[in-house]
Amino acid sequence: MSGGADTGAPAGRAASATVTVAGLATSRGFAAGPAFVYARDSALSVPEYAIPESAVAVEVDRYRAARAETRRQVEEMSAKFKTDSDGLASDILSNHLLLLDDPTANAAIERRISVEHLNAEAAVRRTADDFRAIFAKMRDPYLRERQRDVDDVESRLLAVLLDRGEFAFDRISEPVVVVADDLTPSETVTFPRDRILGFATNRGSTTSHVALLARALGIPAVVGLGNITSRVQAGDFLLLDGTNGTVTVNPDEPARVAFDDLVRRAGELRAQLEDRAPSAAAPAVRLCANAQPGVSLATLAAHGAQGIGLYRSEYLWLGGEADPSEDEQVAAYAEAARAAARLGDGARVVFRVLDIGGDKLQRGQRSHEANPFLGNRSIRFLLSHRDVFRTQLRAILRASVHGPSAVMYPMVATLQELREANAELAGTMEKLRREGVPFDAHIPHGVMIEVPSAALNADAFARECDFFSIGTNDLVQYTMAADRANERVSYLYQPANPAVIHLVDRTIRAARAAGIPVSVCGESASDPVLGVLWAGLGVTSLSMSAGYIPALRKTLQAVTADEARALADRVRGYGSSRTAAEIYADCRAFVVSKVPQFGELQSFFTAG
Ligand code: PEP
Ligand code: MG
Repeated sequence: MSGGADTGAPAGRAASATVTVAGLATSRGFAAGPAFVYARDSALSVPEYAIPESAVAVEVDRYRAARAETRRQVEEMSAKFKTDSDGLASDILSNHLLLLDDPTANAAIERRISVEHLNAEAAVRRTADDFRAIFAKMRDPYLRERQRDVDDVESRLLAVLLDRGEFAFDRISEPVVVVADDLTPSETVTFPRDRILGFATNRGSTTSHVALLARALGIPAVVGLGNITSRVQAGDFLLLDGTNGTVTVNPDEPARVAFDDLVRRAGELRAQLEDRAPSAAAPAVRLCANAQPGVSLATLAAHGAQGIGLYRSEYLWLGGEADPSEDEQVAAYAEAARAAARLGDGARVVFRVLDIGGDKLQRGQRSHEANPFLGNRSIRFLLSHRDVFRTQLRAILRASVHGPSAVMYPMVATLQELREANAELAGTMEKLRREGVPFDAHIPHGVMIEVPSAALNADAFARECDFFSIGTNDLVQYTMAADRANERVSYLYQPANPAVIHLVDRTIRAARAAGIPVSVCGESASDPVLGVLWAGLGVTSLSMSAGYIPALRKTLQAVTADEARALADRVRGYGSSRTAAEIYADCRAFVVSKVPQFGELQSFFTAG
């Protein structure tokens, strides 16, 4: 939960009227603060934010310097084209120079910076929009075409201002609520965490990676808001309610009072989640945290995490353009291993090897595959890039001497893939042994069950690995054939669908029969309603964003192992005769009967 300074709308521009937009609540909590509009709707990302009066002169200078640099670049090009035969190129470039020097355009841009307190990029974009609108109305086709000149000059200016298209997020100087169309994981990780109060995006779903990252960071987020970027202007004041999934733009007094009441009530309820003593009859389920590089591990103990059930190693790759070196990886993994050792008896960190691809791409990268979610991602990528795989396995093994560790393979679909991954692990161990490098020779290796074929063949997989972890985010996506990041099909994100439950049940039975532990580490683990069902079906641990552990603990404390099993038996008995909503409602009614105030707890502190 966070709060920011009320900077209000910038001087010189009237704030728009109060409006509340509803979306999907993806990361619980509340944020109040000025909007930072990050638009990526054209070739170049154009951030839009309000600048304080004290920064106006610097911003105007930044614009003038960018204009001078753009002028220099255009003149340089123009000199090269001077000798071309038809003179077309140099004509175009002279038009660009005329536009760059246009006194009306320059005055408009500088006025937007100094009077409206807009950042230079946004001032350029808006002025270019005005010019395009004027040219678009011209009858003369030649003049209408001048719009393209405006496009060109604008792109050149923005490229200079944005250091070739990459926006320096560290220019965000005060706490803001980020408003965007959508954010890629690599964009999300490059925002300065300490200045982000919340995320509000047009697109996205509850299991998209912005949502997961926001949860991991404890930053409230509402996604799938439709057209929030066109309703919000830089500097508008926002109330973001990540609990009910709403964003209120320029709130009036009653909206502010209602918001403050919610924040207060959440604080009161939080105090009730602190009791950590489990009852003897409660299901024996270890509650672990999902973690990743770049997100503080210091808070895990405070939430009562009993281990790190999923370490998303790919975030070491997502923040930059180059692969992390073996030593950089060792440093990050060793830190996590040490953090796991501090989480008490039996705690360990489960290092998931690079789960790249799908919507998780490196900075500036775009997928060239027609169906990236079905493409060369995760273990498929690693098995086709053995050097990357081997380096990562070496780094994990080297770090394993710093604390209890495990290795986990994502997206395994076939026994053959599992065998190849195991062979790489064994080969890497052998090499380290020969080199005399110490590592944990008994490091367990597990398989993520997130592809239906793996769930269906879990009995065979269980004989060739040490544990399972069920990734319900992807398992639901692939079972329901619904893109996990697409809000238009988010209604198909149904972990309680009988087909999904059947696969989860089958996986758990296979693990139990083979005597290996099995956890759920997808987001469904952080919903106590489903957590109780997974516990009843027999998981040995649940892993989730750390902030959701207390509500899970509270719920499991109130249920006995027998009751959870009985619930699971009842759900099994339904077979496929109930809808996901009916099964969920049944499980929820059970939890409500055991935990007074569950309704309120759920809305404030769970991911359900
Ligand atoms: C999952 O798919 O459920 C999972 C935990 O992995 P990720 O969300 O990182 O794909
Ligand atoms: Mg997954």
